Amino acid sequence: DISENVVYKSHNAFNRKVRLPVGAVQTVARLYQDRKGLVNALDSKRHARGTIGKHIRAVSDDPVKKQAALDEAKVLKAEISELEERLARLEEELETLALALPNDTHPDVPIGPESVAITRSTHGPEPIPADPARDHVSICRALDIIDLKAAATVTGSSWYYLKNEGALLEIALVNYALSVAMKHGYTPVITPDVVRADIARRCGFQPRDPVDGASQMYHITHSANPAEAGDHHPDLVLAGTAEIPLAGMFANKILYPGELPKKVVGLGHSFRAEAGARGTEARGLYRVHQFTKLELFVICTAGKSDEMMEEMRNMQTEIFEGLGLSFRVLEMPTEELGASAYRKYDAEAWMPGRGGWGEISSTSNCTDYQARRLHIRHHHAPASPTASPSDQAQPPLPFAHTLNGTAAAVPRLIVALVENGAVFDEAGAVTGLRLPKALQPFWVGGNPRGLI
Ligand code: AMP
Repeated sequence: DISENVVYKSHNAFNRKVRLPVGAVQTVARLYQDRKGLVNALDSKRHARGTIGKHIRAVSDDPVKKQAALDEAKVLKAEISELEERLARLEEELETLALALPNDTHPDVPIGPESVAITRSTHGPEPIPADPARDHVSICRALDIIDLKAAATVTGSSWYYLKNEGALLEIALVNYALSVAMKHGYTPVITPDVVRADIARRCGFQPRDPVDGASQMYHITHSANPAEAGDHHPDLVLAGTAEIPLAGMFANKILYPGELPKKVVGLGHSFRAEAGARGTEARGLYRVHQFTKLELFVICTAGKSDEMMEEMRNMQTEIFEGLGLSFRVLEMPTEELGASAYRKYDAEAWMPGRGGWGEISSTSNCTDYQARRLHIRHHHAPASPTASPSDQAQPPLPFAHTLNGTAAAVPRLIVALVENGAVFDEAGAVTGLRLPKALQPFWVGGNPRGLI
């Protein structure tokens, strides 16, 4: 019953800096109570209509009584349809606001902005000294593995072409990370890059900010011939992450305990409007509008999600250690959790050209937040054969827990690999790129330019 949690929920939303309309939590609680009242009123009117229907048949021989009953039925019908309309409007308002509420927060999560994140572990070699000569943009240009100029002409700024070894590196990174994920029991999936805005919303992504209406997502404007498209125009957006189509794949499903945990790894393109990104973040490949990402996604029972989060983190550590990166894993604070995460770990790799740590992955335990909104549930464990009939009375089906994590966000990995692995001659010119051995089995096309 959300009304009992109003104070906690308001506080939690405040700690998480979730932008909600003023008084949203109280409004949700009030609308929820109003809805209960309306549903009860509607039930009793419908019941009365059933009774009057029987009465009309019983008095069908008496024209006066029959007319009185018919008049009563007419009034009831009008009242019912008015209540139904009110209920539909109220449910829409309630759903819009309730969808904007954030998840609860794990007690170990620090409260505050990014600066209060806690380093949980560090990995890989000692970071090499910061050095502007290791800037990935100049190295990639020198090696002729990206083209930002052509992309600016063709699409715009913060779009890019990967060329030569740059293109091969994307393919090798994806296949390498995929092989690690599959070794750990993840099923490979290629996801659609376009999703319904409603599915994105149910995953905790607001296609439009509820306060100022701004969007971090690309919306697809339909130009289809309405006659061909019929009346049905779903509101579509470009997926900001494969987490959305992966979670959506299980919408309205009831899974069997034996199927859980369900582990999938999805390959898709992520599209980010990145409104407001500027400065060094927006340079080169670091913060771009489209990137290839391999995403881990897990559905499990409530009791397993903490353990699954650690398992995911260990697997990501294996992937990034295999790439020889210097990186650290951070426990992200409340203001960095977004709407859906109960807890979030980010991995940051050392990027000497940028002179700092840069986020390369993010792992979230969303508990039942997405599952409630997408109706992902699971059957109870089978009752033991010795259980008595009273033990077998089952409560409603539980919601599953969902988790997601980055296995490989390609451009950020390229930045880290290029800035750490560039080889220079004595005059300071870039002559090649040292790449981790782990990529070798996944490298196609050989080394015709002798750069790697
Ligand atoms: P997120 O879903 O926002 O946590 O992002 C997952 C991962 O994708 C991050 O850890 C980054 O490595 C990468 N990433 C996020 N946004 C961008 C972007 N605009 N350009 C390139 N990589 C990004």
